[in-house]
Amino acid sequence: MSSTAYENVGGVREHGGSSSSELASDRTPHQKKRGFATRAIHSGQDKSDPYGALNSPIYMTSTFEFDTAEQGGARFAGEEGGYIYTRLGNPTLNELEQNLAGLEGAEACLTVASGMGAITSVFWTFVAPGDEILVDETLYGCTFVYFRHGLDRFGIKVRHVDMRNPENIAREISDKTKIIYFETPANPNMRLVDIKAIADIAHNVGIKVVVDNTYATPYLQNPIALGADIVVHSATKYLGGHGDLMAGVILSSAEDMEQIRYVGLKDMTGAVLSPMNAFLITRGLKTLELRMERHCDNAEKIAELLEASPKVEKVFFPGLPSFEQYELAKTQMRRFGGMIAFELTGGHDAGLKFLNSLEMCKIAVSLGDAETLVEHPASMTHSTYEPEERARFGITEGLVRISAGLENADDILADIEQALAGV
Ligand SMILES: *Cc1c(COP(=O)(O)O)cnc(C)c1O
Repeated sequence: MSSTAYENVGGVREHGGSSSSELASDRTPHQKKRGFATRAIHSGQDKSDPYGALNSPIYMTSTFEFDTAEQGGARFAGEEGGYIYTRLGNPTLNELEQNLAGLEGAEACLTVASGMGAITSVFWTFVAPGDEILVDETLYGCTFVYFRHGLDRFGIKVRHVDMRNPENIAREISDKTKIIYFETPANPNMRLVDIKAIADIAHNVGIKVVVDNTYATPYLQNPIALGADIVVHSATKYLGGHGDLMAGVILSSAEDMEQIRYVGLKDMTGAVLSPMNAFLITRGLKTLELRMERHCDNAEKIAELLEASPKVEKVFFPGLPSFEQYELAKTQMRRFGGMIAFELTGGHDAGLKFLNSLEMCKIAVSLGDAETLVEHPASMTHSTYEPEERARFGITEGLVRISAGLENADDILADIEQALAGV
């Protein structure tokens, strides 16, 4: 196949890659913006396949042949579009990137090998020794370690701030602050952060706001529309959706992405996504809206059941009127998501007993899968925090985390009910 087949693929510029959030297939012939599921199913597809395959072929290739030596040179020089080497861009990755950019409302997207690959690619692009970053108190366990024990070793000062109150940020900003980073909802205790309020503060002083949107997905929340500069996802979770792959996603302006692709990914992390996994995520996206609706329905029912139980001390779920940030949840999120955290009256030991009493739900970390997954953050995902850090940052020892699956709600509720009876 001649290289010209690639040159007109939307967004392939220089070494290959994606930009442009508005695709022709995002609009109907009458120019109305298509619905989320429609875009997730139809957007980004490369129509150049000679056989008209409904699903694009998977380009399982590391490298791309040049017609001539001059052509290879021109591609490296950025004078000609087209692919070079999969760490710089690949058609299967590009299709997924086009689609995700549209769903998040970003100019550009980059897919990488894991959520941690996404986060580290962003930071290794934009920080240098002497810089400071402001990060929330509650973070995914490995993100916390990367900041506190990783970046810290390279002379980057990491300040933890309770971002539930945006005023705390304004107080901590200095002329060395480069990035503000948070998750909302946050893993594992479901705290929310007001994206717009923080973006407004940051932009007044030229600081980038990076949001981990893994828990909400682009279906429930669009941080870029609220002012965030960069969004990251662990696509291992809801975007893939079936617990069968690891992947990460970065979304930003085309200008920032140029740097993240050619510095953060190409040179600093090398965290390239396999085309096979990109294909599986493209497949997963076709059912993202359907799956999220079911995850949300099931989570709401689980949260209500837990809140009504005398064995439960407190439930953390953004869709409960008792949730501290219920008002923010209603304005910032389309629905409340599939994740729930709760505390049993019996604390730590009751939490472990509850896990061991489950019959159908799985005792497992990760989230966003078809199966309901239950874990104990203090001894599992958040054992990366010192006990004093957990206490200070609001991750209690008895907290149990549930990722509501796609099973029939009655079966999940029955399993949780019988496990509660046992504690
Ligand atoms: C899982 C997770 C990550 C890390 O993603 P991996 O794909 O496991 O590398 C980052 N942030 C959040 C909120 C997560 O849940």
